[in-house]
Amino acid sequence: MVELTIDNQRVKVKEGTTILEAADKLNISIPTLCHHENLTPLGSCRLCTVEVIVDGTSKLTTACTFPVEQGIKVRTTSRKALEARRLAAELLLAKCPTSVKVRNLAKEIGVDKPRIKVREEDCILCDLCVRTCREIVGRQAIKFINRGLNQSVEPHVDLSPDMCIGCGSCAYVCPTGAIKMEDKGDTRVIHGPKWEIEFKLKKCKVCGNYWAPEEQLEYITKSLDLPPGFFDVCPNCR
Ligand code: SF4
Repeated sequence: MVELTIDNQRVKVKEGTTILEAADKLNISIPTLCHHENLTPLGSCRLCTVEVIVDGTSKLTTACTFPVEQGIKVRTTSRKALEARRLAAELLLAKCPTSVKVRNLAKEIGVDKPRIKVREEDCILCDLCVRTCREIVGRQAIKFINRGLNQSVEPHVDLSPDMCIGCGSCAYVCPTGAIKMEDKGDTRVIHGPKWEIEFKLKKCKVCGNYWAPEEQLEYITKSLDLPPGFFDVCPNCR
């Protein structure tokens, strides 16, 4: 076990626990946007920035990625931590001022309006879609292009059409609506920031409703070694 102090409260947690998880144990709330408990933490939004004092030296870090260490002191509401969070919120708000989720989080952090130029893009590069597709769906259909590199092309999310099964999980986790899913009749469309892809939906043999992309059902059938025709009937009619 590792013992640390968060906002002057002592807590003992297992080795490998992140500051975010340790704070949660003390009911200390730290804002997050790119974090999801079932995905590898990334710390890209930086809204969970906290101040950590290790061996008398203070530094800023993201609470979702920092594994606790014996004897460290964490300050979740110090001036330095709150300033860093406000800056992160301003950057996100300037990038995506129309997202309700971003606006609400920014407000919670004390930012109503960014001081920097508004760019009005949908994608905030939080990586939730990329990690969800890879770690939960088991595909690697989405990836970042030029992320973190100082190149002439802006970083953006790109899609490999032959890897995508149209499950819509990326749209479900997207906090800004940069990825959307639309079912119309026998077709599903996944709209991304710079792409869109269509899937034919399977028709239920009993009720006649179109209910899931054929590619997705084929993928699940193969992955779980299900008998052919297992998905001829939708879950409601099974
Ligand atoms: S719809 Fe495609 S890109 Fe999105 S999570 Fe599913 S497989 Fe990945």
